Amino acid sequence: MRHIAIIGSGPAGYYSAEAAQKKFGENVAVDIIDRLPVPFGLIRTGVAPDHQSIKAVSRRYEKTNSGDNVRFVGNVTVGVDVSVAELQEFYDAVVLATGAPEDRVLDIPGSDLAGVIGSAAFVGWYNGHPDFRDLDPPLDARSVAIIGNGNVALDVARILAKTEGEFAGSDIVGHALDGLKQSAVERITFLGRRGPHQIAMTPKELGELGHLERARPVVEAEDFPDIGDDAMLEPGMRKSVNYLRSFQIAAADAEHKPIEIAFDFFAMPIEIQGEGRVEKLIIERTELDKDLRSIGTGELYELECQLVISCIGYRTPPIEGVPYEHGRGRFANSDGRILPGLYCVGWARRGPSGTIGTNKPDGAAVVEMINEDISENSRKPGRAGLDSLLASRGVETVTFRDWKKIEEAEVARAREGSPREKFTDIADMIAARD
Ligand code: NAP
Repeated sequence: MRHIAIIGSGPAGYYSAEAAQKKFGENVAVDIIDRLPVPFGLIRTGVAPDHQSIKAVSRRYEKTNSGDNVRFVGNVTVGVDVSVAELQEFYDAVVLATGAPEDRVLDIPGSDLAGVIGSAAFVGWYNGHPDFRDLDPPLDARSVAIIGNGNVALDVARILAKTEGEFAGSDIVGHALDGLKQSAVERITFLGRRGPHQIAMTPKELGELGHLERARPVVEAEDFPDIGDDAMLEPGMRKSVNYLRSFQIAAADAEHKPIEIAFDFFAMPIEIQGEGRVEKLIIERTELDKDLRSIGTGELYELECQLVISCIGYRTPPIEGVPYEHGRGRFANSDGRILPGLYCVGWARRGPSGTIGTNKPDGAAVVEMINEDISENSRKPGRAGLDSLLASRGVETVTFRDWKKIEEAEVARAREGSPREKFTDIADMIAARD
């Protein structure tokens, strides 16, 4: 028997548990520990609420949880209720699958002004993460600047631009839908510090922008390289750039749509200004150097905006006692091994890149390492050790069966056409299982 603790119940955590089940069969006991009383991490609170087909992957994780050898232990914060060192005493292997829930810092003057928000907070707000339920973003803003040219930037713009009707079938939380219904937004501007050939937006997600009821994407022809240069792009990127180019052609047909979603390329925000609240961004025009990095040209201009959402990537918060790579915002590791017996997977290992499926090979790889490093004849107490420690500290844990009751209550209180109305308060989640 091997005892494994996985910290974090998102895709990286569940794929690791699934791989351990496959590899070790009945000779493994896996505990998936999460600080929230509800599982699935990024699937629940990161993936956009109007992307329900992506969220459906959680059914696969439910299967992983249906065997006796995988347990969900919710409402337990590692670093507060139990330390990593204590987990290492109980389990043969501890796997950090904590994701990258914090924003990469937007390090420019004025970034602490009211009305400047990171994507972790904004996405958490519309997805009902308990940490961000009270965010109250200033949706009286007529002009919104979104910094970054990745898929999170696209999610944020789409959510801001959609009509109430376009949220049918989504599980956007009630407080966000109510807030967005009152939104005054007229113009959304993506600020990309590089050009159309350097975007990190994938085709399907970019394509969605062309089909919004009341919003039209706008690009400037002069930002694009010669069309012949698209041939050098890898196929996915070429498709994305095709979509960008198609927005230019479609612009005339979409003029009746009142919200403009403008792509401002070669644009690097250098300062945010305002009296008590953001009023404008100072932007430096950039160009690319020979390594395709953006460099400032010295040409400055202003963008009036009342809300700035930075979507420039995420970082994994450090955990006491675990080696950490500050520059890259993730745990220091060699292909997932921090040291024998302590591992990391997913964004905590690689940084915030790739799709949900990218976590699958991560899970398989970490289990191979555990197999190499850890003997099958464990002398550790495993889950019994954790249970008695948490009981002695009065920590109230939430099981997978409890979660199913919480889920049932969320389904029961859903507005018409929505799959669920999430609880956004931890106390309400816990009360719903009783
Ligand atoms: P991302 O793909 O890394 O994009 C970050 C963007 O921010 C890039 O355009 C980057 O530009 C820019 N940036 C970084 N630092 C900046 C700075 N200091 N100033 C200005 N711009 C800056 O990150 P993400 O959008 O957060 O997405 C994270 C991961 O989740 C990605 O793998 C993404 O594909 C995935 N995701 C997928 C979906 C989906 O499939 N539906 C949805 C959401 C997220 P440079 O390129 O110049 O660095």
